[in-house]
Amino acid sequence: MLTDWLDWTLEGKPASRRSGPLASGHYTLHGPGILELTPESLGANPHACVFSAAIHGNETAPVELLGELLAQIEAGMMALGSPVLVILGNLPALRQGKRFINTNLNRLFQRGLGLEGNEPARARELMTQLDQFYQRHAPLPALHYDLHTAIRTSLYPRFVVEPFGVSDTAGEQWRWLAGADIQAVLHQHQHSWTFSHYSKHYHGAQAFTFELGRVAPFGANDLDALRPMLALLAALAGAQTPDAQPPDSMVFFRVEQEIMRQSHAFTLCFDEDIPNFTAFPSGTLLARDAQAGAFKVGETPLHVVFPNARVEIGARAALLVTPVEGSHSKIF
Ligand SMILES: [Zn+2]
Repeated sequence: MLTDWLDWTLEGKPASRRSGPLASGHYTLHGPGILELTPESLGANPHACVFSAAIHGNETAPVELLGELLAQIEAGMMALGSPVLVILGNLPALRQGKRFINTNLNRLFQRGLGLEGNEPARARELMTQLDQFYQRHAPLPALHYDLHTAIRTSLYPRFVVEPFGVSDTAGEQWRWLAGADIQAVLHQHQHSWTFSHYSKHYHGAQAFTFELGRVAPFGANDLDALRPMLALLAALAGAQTPDAQPPDSMVFFRVEQEIMRQSHAFTLCFDEDIPNFTAFPSGTLLARDAQAGAFKVGETPLHVVFPNARVEIGARAALLVTPVEGSHSKIF
């Protein structure tokens, strides 16, 4: 049933049953693309786990990864030990193989945002589902891994964005991420209303946005490189202790600045196909904007992440980041 659920969701077919048994618990469908798995009994190290994918509809590797996790659970290859909410975000965009239909869903996860349309309505539905899920399973620690793939190549193909927030990320999270073969970490410097930020900001969750390689269509993803990531998801769903590695195998970056697109006449002054984290030396002209003027790198060299000149006006066209020196003593 669980793997059928993925196929039905992709095809837009309603599921035949809204709930049913599993070898180690039961499942409940709360809505299109929203599936909850409830363990018969809690394992040794349980969290209230949210695993989401396809917040951008063309990012298919995470959907395949969650499909493998569901297949393992369904086949009884692993026992559920934590409640797990599995979410497929932008269903119309997923069916059309597009990043979004009208607007980027991953900037709309803010309570009280009064926008209308496909993506704002979906954001409201998902926020309500998260609120109810975390509430149902309090006082289990909340955890949210929002799984993406990046538009371009990256000097670090597998990295996480740590949302900005007042609550600290637990030290074990860094060790588990290193154990899952994550190569870099990007600390956000301010609120950015993404799905993972929602869980951290409103629920104090251990939360990250994962970038797991590069965008590709279904069937063209290299899932072998994501085996350690699948093992992390399976350990969390089973409430087992995940594989851990020293976090200093990862490179840590901090966001210094953002380039915002402020007018129609906006250009990035470098080849947009450069890999994420490419460094630019002091004095490099990075962007021109009719409203904001020219943007040059100051004294400190800057690495560029997520450049995209075609964003909507008022949206972010690139993140500018620097490596965090000596971060280990501070973070761990
Ligand atoms: Zn994405």
